[in-house]
Amino acid sequence: MKKIIDSHLHISKWGDEDFITCFDNYVKEQGIHALNICAIPLCMSNVANNIMLGLYKLARPNTYIHGGIELIEVPLDNMPSGMDTVAQYKELMEIGFDGIKMLEGKPTEHKRIGKSINHPQLNRLYSEMEKDGTHLLMHVNDPDEFWDLERAPEWAIKAGWTYTDGSFSPYEEIRDQTIQILKDYPNLSLTLAHFFFCSKTPQLLEELFSLYPNLCVDLTPGGEMYVEFEKNYSYYKGFFDKYHNRLIFGTDRSYKCDEKYADWQYNLVTTFLSTDKAVESFDNKMLLGLGLPKEKSDNILFANFENRVGKEPKAIDKEKFKQYIDKYSFALTECDKERIKPLIERYL
Ligand SMILES: [Zn+2]
Repeated sequence: MKKIIDSHLHISKWGDEDFITCFDNYVKEQGIHALNICAIPLCMSNVANNIMLGLYKLARPNTYIHGGIELIEVPLDNMPSGMDTVAQYKELMEIGFDGIKMLEGKPTEHKRIGKSINHPQLNRLYSEMEKDGTHLLMHVNDPDEFWDLERAPEWAIKAGWTYTDGSFSPYEEIRDQTIQILKDYPNLSLTLAHFFFCSKTPQLLEELFSLYPNLCVDLTPGGEMYVEFEKNYSYYKGFFDKYHNRLIFGTDRSYKCDEKYADWQYNLVTTFLSTDKAVESFDNKMLLGLGLPKEKSDNILFANFENRVGKEPKAIDKEKFKQYIDKYSFALTECDKERIKPLIERYL
């Protein structure tokens, strides 16, 4: 059985079903070695999501979790001390989180927080994480076609992820702010999700890889990147062969998702990375597997993640976790509290 760690998953809403069993079938069916579940503050607060992830790890200890920082003040100028970005980061690490996930570079969030991911509150966080060698997974930008209604896909328009009304920062501005983070914190253990949405400009990634030794990108679709891999197949075959130690497997599977589609996507990405067989891709055309040597595909499928985050997930410190839940209960809705209560009784 192939060893695989899925580095990019979410549990983003409460459901009728017990969310703790939601990934069990995935793990069982695909023989996944370990999961990394990441906070995503789209349907609930980071705090509620962090608590879910902590409870999940108590129930399934072989799980990595990346927590989210609650931005208590937006804009970020007056974050209360003791609840600022660094204080929250330290708390999460002490609880047993394995890394931090940020969505603040996604254009919608970027606009909400005041259009800068180089704010001093966030810079202090990057600085501290760089010092500690803690892994940061950041979603920054979106596919460049989301800034152009003629090229944006239907589903993105429906999700409200088009950025043409002038109120959002341009793709280039968010990209450059991200590069500024690397300039300021060159040793940060940073993984940029979704190939940094650079599949049309991979030379930029090559340049960044040469400058920043701890930079990786993940291969979580973004179907558009797989279309580009196919269009520029021979270039990308060389790219994967050369940068196998900078690329990380992930799927963005979430609770709850369309499982059939998620399985199809999983099969596409793993076939591409670990075989030389052709597989149907996002544009309904056939994408040929890279045929990488096993040690290179193993790096992408699990070893790069383990080397950056840890050979094993950290354990939860229950006392610290309880303190966190008490301290941040103000950020929970009544619905969150109702759903969390029986799980706390059971697992904490
Ligand atoms: Zn994601």
